[in-house]
Amino acid sequence: SGSISVAELAEKLNKKTNEIIKKLMFSGVMATKNQDLDEDALELICSEFGVEVEQEIEIDKADLATYIDEDDPNKLEERPPVVTIMGHVDHGKTTLLDSIRHTKVTAGEAGGITQHIGAYQVRENDKKVTFLDTPGHAAFTSMRSRGAQVTDIAILVVAADDGVMPQTIEAINHAKAAEVPIIIAVNKMDKEGANPDRVMQELTEYELIPEDWGGDTIFVQLSAIKREGIDDLLEMILLVAEVEELKANADRRANGTVIEAQLDKGRGPVASLLVQNGTLKVGDPIVVGNTFGRVRAMVNDLGKRINSAGPSTPIEITGLNDVPLAGDQFVVFKDEKQARQIGEMRQEKQLEEKRGTQSRVSLDDLFEQI
Ligand code: GDP
Ligand code: MG
Repeated sequence: SGSISVAELAEKLNKKTNEIIKKLMFSGVMATKNQDLDEDALELICSEFGVEVEQEIEIDKADLATYIDEDDPNKLEERPPVVTIMGHVDHGKTTLLDSIRHTKVTAGEAGGITQHIGAYQVRENDKKVTFLDTPGHAAFTSMRSRGAQVTDIAILVVAADDGVMPQTIEAINHAKAAEVPIIIAVNKMDKEGANPDRVMQELTEYELIPEDWGGDTIFVQLSAIKREGIDDLLEMILLVAEVEELKANADRRANGTVIEAQLDKGRGPVASLLVQNGTLKVGDPIVVGNTFGRVRAMVNDLGKRINSAGPSTPIEITGLNDVPLAGDQFVVFKDEKQARQIGEMRQEKQLEEKRGTQSRVSLDDLFEQI
């Protein structure tokens, strides 16, 4: 809540500053005109003048979350899970992502030319699963550090011939901090030295205990390179998703998170977005991070032009004024005027913050020189 000084209060009440100071003095409060009043003094003065103190709730108008209305629970429907693949370097994350995409996409949707937009969707038993294909867990962590939570389920890839390694542990910690369920993909089962029991044994130390051993962690053995076990993994993902009861409301203006973004020579700013709630449509006025615009064109992960995208769908859009950052939030507004207003407000706030840190930095530099 904001504070108010004697002089400011005088102005609000349309009184002279001296009058206020006098009233305060009679009540035993010594105050000067620029002094901030505490709640008691404020109430005292107001009652003296016969005015009611209205509690002012300050809202940060630059905070995008302010503009996301709460959902009617009756409108919530099941949505596809959003999955991130994590694990130690060389344990097969990229190979697994390629295998899943190749096995499922080429078999199903015909005529599509896969396009890298930072995420893709596959179908398993008439249900969809969305995979973030940003390499490693860098995306996971940088997004989270920006307050974005896009992952519903983490797949932890552990090579059966190598076992738990430093980045395996790091990945576990990130997923646990985010309170995201973990499925273990024991990879490279085709290899001579594959030892899945050792992987399971090692992971018990991190409270990841297989169901057979009395725990509740799902382990799937696979060979990403031979494309074996992919369906098992997808089925387990859908099972976990069901338990998690992931829901969204498709019947509202969209909001979500930036997966990646860059400046394209021909098309201008291009942003890959994950729609987390609502449906995003071509023509929608949108604020994305500290920039804004109108969705000019939208393509899906198959490079197909589409006009709308529902919850958990990754898409790429053009039509923004500037390039946002991965992890930025986006919100669709009713009209372009409001989107522009809020976008500009956010830009300004960002500039102010930048100036603030710059002057601090230069001060630090100064001290360093001394
Ligand atoms: P990342 O660093 O976790 O993304 O690992 P990559 O997907 O790049 O895989 C690292 C290496 O392991 C590559 O040479 C892959 O061909 C190999 N690899 C990945 N999955 C398997 C597998 O299931 N079996 C075998 N034998 N090799 C694999
Ligand atoms: Mg990789």
